[in-house]
Formats: sequence, structure tokens, C-alpha cells
Amino acid sequence: MKRRLPFRRWIRRVVQIAFLLAFVGLILATRPVPGETPSWWLKAYFLADPLILVMTVLAAHAVPLLALFSLVTVLLTLILGRVFCGWICPLGTVHALTGWALDKVQKPAKRRDTFSPWQKAKYYILGGALVMALVGGHWITIFDPLVLLYRTVTTSLLPAAQWGIETGANAVYQADPRIGGFKLTSVTEPAYQYLRNHVFVLPKQAFLGTGLILAFFIAIVAANAYRRRFWCRYVCPLGALLGLLAKRPLLRRKVTSESCNECGLCTTACHGASASGLGTGWKPSECFVCLNCSTTCPRDACEFTFQPVIWRKEPAVQPVGLTRRGVLWAAAGGLVGFAFLRATPQGRGSVYHPRLIRPPGSRPEPDFLARCTACGMCMKVCPTGGLQPAITEAGLEGLFTPHLVPIIGYCDYTCTACGHVCPTEAIRPLTEEEKHQIKIGLAAFDVTRCIPYVYGRNCVVCEEHCPIPEKAIYCVETEVELRDGKKRRIKLPKVDPEKCIGCGVCEYVCPLDDAPGIRVITTNETRHDRHQALLPEVEGEEELPY
Ligand code: SF4
Ligand code: SF4
Ligand code: SF4
Repeated sequence: MKRRLPFRRWIRRVVQIAFLLAFVGLILATRPVPGETPSWWLKAYFLADPLILVMTVLAAHAVPLLALFSLVTVLLTLILGRVFCGWICPLGTVHALTGWALDKVQKPAKRRDTFSPWQKAKYYILGGALVMALVGGHWITIFDPLVLLYRTVTTSLLPAAQWGIETGANAVYQADPRIGGFKLTSVTEPAYQYLRNHVFVLPKQAFLGTGLILAFFIAIVAANAYRRRFWCRYVCPLGALLGLLAKRPLLRRKVTSESCNECGLCTTACHGASASGLGTGWKPSECFVCLNCSTTCPRDACEFTFQPVIWRKEPAVQPVGLTRRGVLWAAAGGLVGFAFLRATPQGRGSVYHPRLIRPPGSRPEPDFLARCTACGMCMKVCPTGGLQPAITEAGLEGLFTPHLVPIIGYCDYTCTACGHVCPTEAIRPLTEEEKHQIKIGLAAFDVTRCIPYVYGRNCVVCEEHCPIPEKAIYCVETEVELRDGKKRRIKLPKVDPEKCIGCGVCEYVCPLDDAPGIRVITTNETRHDRHQALLPEVEGEEELPY
């Protein structure tokens, strides 16, 4: 029999690559542009993600309006099944490409592509996460595939590429090699200039916790060597949510028993391990609609057709087989897990980490954690590179969520970018005027470090750079005694707590690069009513207001 050309498989591959490139393109396009507010379409992928919508609704009791766009994905899944996993998800494509590469080197290919009961694990993980969200925990979204890939590309892969390109271009520039009369720099320099102006606009951008983020990504990609698309089959919480929606899609697989000779080729080609046996036992919740089964079958016995009645049962269509006991255990696991996440002084809101400086517009901490997915969009767009992933500052629940590290980069007085890209409004979008009213922290001099205090010499760098028009740092002339007994008048800098907004410029510019003489801490941040140590001064009042 003549073998049918698997052109549908090629169409799928082209579509997958196109969506992966679009995803990377959106990451690259998310960059600071002076004077411009980032456009909403930069977060298009996250807006199409129903897991983010569901978790935000349950945990924060809020519906980010643009996220309703994800209902398109829900509709698509109800009609076509988990086509998102097989054709659209960029992390799915990374796994598919890895599996394809491994097929070339693992001989015989290490595959097991019939359904394994362990594939139910992802549904139980999702169940636990939904219960966790009901009591206020958004935590599982740090494992959302789009979030995970975005964060990895932004904080690890791109900075590594930038370092390589910058170092390589500099080396070529300095060596200035020639091939005959041809100067290599005539090619490398324009390419480098282009990348510097359009892709790597912040020089030497780097992030904290890169090793941890990258190690997790490498682990889930390497798991393909054990089972193809391990992450998608066993773990992915978004895949599980789409699997529940795809229980009985309109587009279904049909095997003609008269033509099928049970050779098993369709099963070995299945990306989702969606069938428990040959020919029958197809589980649509596990099927990625990769179409490999129908394009592989040499007898054209396997086809996908529209079956217009969504509720009609068919013997060939099987459920995954979740058990009530399993669901209850998952729910209990979610509750216990959340109790552990919150069983820290910080989780209970009884202490404030002095260096957990959230970007301007951030909601109060519990509400922030009930929304933030730790995607890293805000960090990518921050023009100073000061927004960094938290590692220990916000506890396990706040792992990889953004905080400002002023010694790396400050919060630009005129910038409101992070709030405009945040897909869940964990950081509220602000106007510049609104931002100027918000305190994200308070600067404090370290009198054991600050040059005028410790060494009796003038230094007004912080005062000069403070961006507040009336200056939050002012100087008081003071007389100090020198070693030889002579007196000198110097300017001692002080912080006005009414004016300081905690932007961190002073800490950033302090010439003491190792341990600055002024530091920003979270005291008096606007988002926490109870974290106001310095109450406004009342004119004429002598007594302390406590
Ligand atoms: S932290 Fe400040 S400088 Fe960074 S993106 Fe947000 S508003 Fe802009
Ligand atoms: S705060 Fe930053 S990391 Fe968190 S969801 Fe918003 S953009 Fe993503
Ligand atoms: S943090 Fe420093 S630079 Fe920023 S407003 Fe306060 S004193 Fe000025």
C-alpha cells in the first residue's frame, strides 16, 4: 500500500515553530522604551492562559479583564481537544524538539507511548493547587508552562546569550582580525550594534537566582530522555486543566476496526501516550492532537473526525480514570501544603522583610502573592535592571517574585512600565503622577559606612542624584574635629521621611559599592497600613505621637 505523505505532521511542526518564535519575539519585544507605555499585546500569551485566569479568580477573587481572552483557549479545547498542547504551547514545542533530537541519538529509542496510570498525577497536582488557590495561594502558577519558559528565557538564557555576544564582539573588536584585506569587524560590529540597540538594550543585564531557574528548566527538558514529553504527560498543571476540558471534544479519533491490523505504529508515535492499548482505549484528555497516529498508520485506519454531539458516549473514548480517593488526597495535600507555605512569620504577615522592596503599584503582600505568577515580565521591562527575582526574601510562596535590589538598579522616577506589563495586576498600572505619590520604601543612612559620618569628609552624591524635585535628602552643616585637633565644617546628609519614596537612586549611586552608606528598607511603604513606623509630623507637636 502506498504510504501517505504525513504533510499534516509538517503543518503542525511549522505551526509549532511559528508559535515558539512568536513567544520568543514577544519576550524580545518586551524592553524598556523611554517615554512609551508597554503595549498590552506583549502579554498576549499569558492572557490566553486559562490556568492563570482560574488561579487569579480563586486566589484573589478578581478577574483581570484582559485575561478573559483565555476563554478563547477554553473554547478551542472544547472543540478540538488539547490542541494548545500539541500545536501552540512553546514549552510543549521545546519538549517535542528535544524528543525529536533524542530519537536520533537514543538507539533504540527509549519510548513508552501507551497510557501510564502515573499520568493521572498531573490532575491530582492541579486538584491540590485549586484547593490551595481557594484559600489564597497562587503558588502553582510558577509551574505554569508559559510562565516557566518566559522566566527561564528572560532571566537565564537571554542574559547568558548577551554575555556571550558582548564578550565575543569585544574580543573580535580588540583583536581586529583580517582575512586578506577583509576586516572581520566590518561584519561583527554592525551586527553587535543592531543587537545592542534592539535586543540587549540594557548592558550586562543579569538576574539573581539564575542557576536555580536554569537547573529546574534543564531537569524538565532532560526528563524527555526517560519518557518523551514527560512534563506534559505527568506534571503540567495547565495540561491537566486543558485535559479536564477535553474530556469529550468535538474532534475525535476514530479507528476503523476492519482496516486496523493492530500493528501498534500509531501508539508508538503518540506524543501524549493517550491510548491504553492498540486501536481502542483512546483518552482524549491525554491526546495533544499531534495527528501522528493518523499520519503514521499505513492502512489509513486511524482518522480524526468531527462528531458533533459532545455528550455522546463512545466505547473507544475512555476517561483517564481519576478516583474519588485520589481527588480527596490531592485536596488534603493542597491544604497541608498551603499551611506550610504560610507557616512562616512573613507568611502570617507579622513581620516585614526590610529588603523586600516591591515595585511601585504592588498590592499588599498577601494580595500580591495571590496574583503574582513570577513570570518575570516586570523584570524584563525594568529599564534599570533593578527588579530581580526574590530567592529567600519573600519565603517559598514568593520564590522568583519581583523585588527591587537598589545596588543593582533603582526605580526610575519617570517609569511606570512594570505595572503596565503585569498580566495579573499584581502590580497595578499607574500613571506617572500616581507613582510619585507611592512610597516603596524609605532610605536610611548607615552611619558606620556613610563617608561624612565615618571619615568627616564631604560627599553629597546621594543628595545630588535624589530625583525628588524638592530633594528627600538634605544636608546639615556640622563641625567635626580632625586628627590634629583642627575643626572642619562638613555637610551631614539626612533623609526627610515625608519626601523619600524609596526609589533607591541614592543607594545605587553611593560611591561605596560594596556596602553603601545609605540603604532603602521597606519601612513606610504605602501598600502596608501597619508598616508605618514614621507617622507624619504634626506642626507644633513636641511629643512623640506614640
Ligand atoms: S521598578 Fe521602577 S524603574 Fe523598574 S519597571 Fe517598575 S517603575 Fe520602572
Ligand atoms: S508581578 Fe511581575 S512576575 Fe508577578 S505576575 Fe506581574 S509581571 Fe509577572
Ligand atoms: S530613596 Fe534615596 S534617592 Fe530615592 S527618594 Fe529616597 S532619598 Fe531620594
